[in-house]
Amino acid sequence: EWLSNKIAAGEVVERPASVVKELVENAIDAGSTQIEVFLHDAGLGSIQVTDNGSGMDEEDAFKCFMRHATSKISNEHDLFRIRTLGFRGEALASIASVSKIHLKTYDGKSGIELVLEGGIERARHAAPSRRGTDITVSQLFFNTPARLKYMKTIQTELGHSIDLMNRLALCNPHIAFKLMHHDQLLLQTNGRGNVQQVLASIYGIQNAKKMIPFEGKSHDYNISGYATLPEITRASKNYMSIFVNGRWVKHFLAQKAMTDAYHTFLPIERFPIVVLFVEGDPYLTDVNVHPAKHQIRLSKEPELLELIQTTIREAIRAVNR
Ligand code: ADP
Ligand code: MG
Repeated sequence: EWLSNKIAAGEVVERPASVVKELVENAIDAGSTQIEVFLHDAGLGSIQVTDNGSGMDEEDAFKCFMRHATSKISNEHDLFRIRTLGFRGEALASIASVSKIHLKTYDGKSGIELVLEGGIERARHAAPSRRGTDITVSQLFFNTPARLKYMKTIQTELGHSIDLMNRLALCNPHIAFKLMHHDQLLLQTNGRGNVQQVLASIYGIQNAKKMIPFEGKSHDYNISGYATLPEITRASKNYMSIFVNGRWVKHFLAQKAMTDAYHTFLPIERFPIVVLFVEGDPYLTDVNVHPAKHQIRLSKEPELLELIQTTIREAIRAVNR
């Protein structure tokens, strides 16, 4: 059991940002409206995630560190209609096996405070009385030095967590997010559901003002989002984000469709800032391809690419007219 957790950890826990992702997605799944992340040494020192979600009772708090202890799949049908973010039930077990964990959780009636080292319980205390969950993962990879050696610089690791938090904030504008690195505030959103406020907190108010909303619909897909005017460009494609049914994905052809929407407007090797939300029947979007790698397989892809290109092109033309 312990060994298989440690092996699974290699799959799930690639770097500090992977831990941040699993913890914050759990907080989102728990219905939180406020999620705060505190990192030390880019998460290699510690990662603390505090939420005001459902919390866990004493029993669930123990169970959550066991492999396949998910409360999110109740039947096989669910596997194919995944609406919640987590669905493998092994993230916490894997993370626990390669770190030290301090969990405080309370569901309004029952709760617990637990300390684990390498997945083994070291201490337990009475429950806190604040509803929600506070989990601190420290000394990541303390018992897998080979993995620790592969960690890049603090700046690189921090960059991955910032990118991740920006994306989570963009597709969850109703959640107030905060990201701190030591005493430095890196992201703060107000949770009032306004995507433009999130854009402003990520890209700056001036850039956000130059992003125009778009919306389009085809037979199988609905899209919406914000795209910059052609005068605001970036040297990297990383500023084009795609969310399919609330999940961030990498999709090369969708990025190309966005860039093509600007065609003659864009200087060579410059790219727009675009945030694209795609909604479609979950049966058309197979998220099971590789959850950790964010690859996605889409049915009716040409229809979607055409929709993206024409919708963004029209939105930009309308402003330039
Ligand atoms: P999964 O998210 O795939 O179900 P995890 O290992 O990430 O698996 O979490 C295991 C379980 O622990 C979850 O299904 C959930 O019931 C519980 N859990 C984890 N984090 C939280 C949280 N922040 N708030 C409430 N419950 C949580
Ligand atoms: Mg999870």
